[in-house]
Amino acid sequence: MKSGKLIVLSGPGGVGKSTIVKELKQHPDFYFSVSATTRGPRPGEIDGEAYHFVAEEAFDEMISSGEFLEWAEFAGARYGTPSHPVDEALAMGKHVLLEIEIAGARQVRKKRSEALLVFLEPPSFSELEERIRGRASDSEERVQARLALAREEMAAAGEFDHRLVNHRVEEVVAALVSFAVRK
Ligand code: 5GP
Repeated sequence: MKSGKLIVLSGPGGVGKSTIVKELKQHPDFYFSVSATTRGPRPGEIDGEAYHFVAEEAFDEMISSGEFLEWAEFAGARYGTPSHPVDEALAMGKHVLLEIEIAGARQVRKKRSEALLVFLEPPSFSELEERIRGRASDSEERVQARLALAREEMAAAGEFDHRLVNHRVEEVVAALVSFAVRK
C-alpha cells in the first residue's frame, strides 16, 4: 500500500489552527496525532482525545525511551508527538496531520525530510491581535506576552514549504487536502 503523507500545520497562537483541524477530522483519509502534554486539561478536554495528559515524570520517561517524533516547551508546559501511532497510520496509507508549534515543526523537518510543512497565517497582524484579545479574560500583561510570542512565531513563516492565509476555513481545508493527494 502507498504510504500516506506527513503534514505539519503550524502558525502563531490564535490564528485558528484548531478550527481547521476540527473540520479536517471529518475527512476519512486523515489521521490526527494525539500529543502528550504536561499541561492540565481545559474544561471539556478528554484525556486520550484532546491530548494524553501526563505528569512531568511520565513525560521525562517518554523522552528518555525515545517515544517522541518531536517535543517542545510552549507557554510553561511540554508537548510531544508519540512516533509510533504516526508511523502506523502512515503505513496504513493515511495522511497524518500534526498540529504543533514551530520548534516541533523544525524537529520534524530534520527527522523526516519527506514531511510537508504548512504555516497558517492570519490575514493581518491586527486581525490576529483582535482574536487574541477576544479570547478568554486574559490580563493585559498576558495579552502582551501572547502578542510578542505571535510576532516571534510569524517570523518563522519563511522556513515552511507552504504558507496559507486563513481567510476562510473551507479554503484552508481544501488546500491541505490538495497537498495530501498531490504526488
Ligand atoms: P494548547 O495548550 O493551546 O492546546 O497548545 C499550545 C501550543 O502547543 C499550540 O501551538 C499547539 O499547536 C502546540 N502543540 C500541541 N501539541 C504539540 C506537540 O505534540 N508538539 C509540539 N511541538 N507542539 C504542540
